Amino acid sequence: MHVEICEDDCINCGLCAERAPSNVEEVPDAELPRIVRQPLGTEEEEACLEAAEYCPLGGFHADQRQEGGSIREDVPAGDNGTRARAMPP
Ligand code: SF4
Repeated sequence: MHVEICEDDCINCGLCAERAPSNVEEVPDAELPRIVRQPLGTEEEEACLEAAEYCPLGGFHADQRQEGGSIREDVPAGDNGTRARAMPP
C-alpha cells in the first residue's frame, strides 16, 4: 500500500492524522499534514484506508496494490459522497 496527500484537495482538517496516527502527523503552522511513513502491516493499512474513506475532499490517497502490483479496487466513498482516488500504477 502507498499513501499520499494531494495538496490541491487537502483543507488540513487533521482527520487523517487522527485516523492514522502512525502514518500521518499534523505539522504546526504548515498547510498540510505530513506522511511520516508508509503503512506497515494490516492495522496501519486499515487505518490509512479509513483515513482515505473519511477525508472530506478526497485528498488522502491510499492505493491497494496486491503483491503483483495491480490495484484491487478504489477506496470506498466517504461520508460526503466523494471518492478517494487510487494511485496510478
Ligand atoms: S483528512 Fe483529507 S483534508 Fe483532512 S488533513 Fe487529511 S488529507 Fe487533508
